[in-house]
Amino acid sequence: MDVQYDVIIIGSGPAGLTAAIYASRANLRTLILEAETPGGKLTKTYEIENYPGIMKISGVDLAMQMMEHSTNWGAEMEYEGCEKIVPQEGYFEVHTAYGNVLTSKCVIVASGTKERTLDLPRAEEFTGRGISYCAVCDGAFYRNKDVAVIGGGNSALEESLYLTQLVNKVNIIIRRDVFRAEPKVVEKVRNNPKINIITKSLPDALVIEDNKVKGLVIRNVDTGEKTTLECEGIFPYIGADPSTEFLKDLGVLDARGYMVVDDSMETSIKGLFGAGDVVAKDLRQVVTATNDGAIAANSVARYING
Ligand code: NAP
Repeated sequence: MDVQYDVIIIGSGPAGLTAAIYASRANLRTLILEAETPGGKLTKTYEIENYPGIMKISGVDLAMQMMEHSTNWGAEMEYEGCEKIVPQEGYFEVHTAYGNVLTSKCVIVASGTKERTLDLPRAEEFTGRGISYCAVCDGAFYRNKDVAVIGGGNSALEESLYLTQLVNKVNIIIRRDVFRAEPKVVEKVRNNPKINIITKSLPDALVIEDNKVKGLVIRNVDTGEKTTLECEGIFPYIGADPSTEFLKDLGVLDARGYMVVDDSMETSIKGLFGAGDVVAKDLRQVVTATNDGAIAANSVARYING
């Protein structure tokens, strides 16, 4: 059996690209498969301020530098999604969305997470025209307007700070009265005069006029009282779920759909590894993703070299 690659890496976020750098430098025949934009969640992040050695960098710039770094060492890249991984005797088949079947001695899954969508009537219809999951991509459409950001995690707060540079006012809606984001970011948000924080509230309905988003009805979680917030843009940042549908038959996921791996980033299937946000763990950061990618590629090299 002529196996095409030593390792196929699924996903090109920080975990996948770091795995590609380490695998290529170990002289492994390496292919990265990417279904969407190279860089993963980085490309939707305005600024990174906690990657050691780099005080501040835009998400897109860091993604492009990581990508150039990985292909510079010889990793190949194909823009195809993964539909299915089939373990065979001593190798894996990777079935792509375009119907191709690729073969590899090992697979590193670094497919990350997918943002949760707003569960309101007509939300899907207005996604891309009033509702956006990417402030960096769509923020400029709401220049000098009022917007709402839903959620109190790092993504919601960091992207709110970005939006203040463009819009008139950012209303952050959180369901509790505390934020989930790290304290330094919360402090910046609290000190920003363009940000209005609405606590103990959940989105209840969209206000649509002339086929456009004009506001959001919010409901107080304690009193049930409903109020209408005028806004033309809504940015939900309400967390994410792992992108692991294609692994569901392999028995390598926990109850929430995250990959279960050991210290070497290997799953219960020999030769199948996980890295980055897709793995069950406590801390999801660029730095923990790159850490996982390096360990996974090193483990692949050891596995292949016996
Ligand atoms: P997250 O940390 O899970 O926060 C989700 C937020 O949305 C929470 O405030 C949560 O409220 C709220 N929420 C969840 N479901 C909701 C619903 N149905 N309706 C209204 N609100 C809802 O998600 P994230 O901000 O996307 O971050 C994901 C991961 O990436 C985290 O581990 C985060 O630390 C990491 N990250 C790190 C950075 C950084 O270090 N610079 C940047 C971005 C993301 P509750 O708090 O009440 O649950």
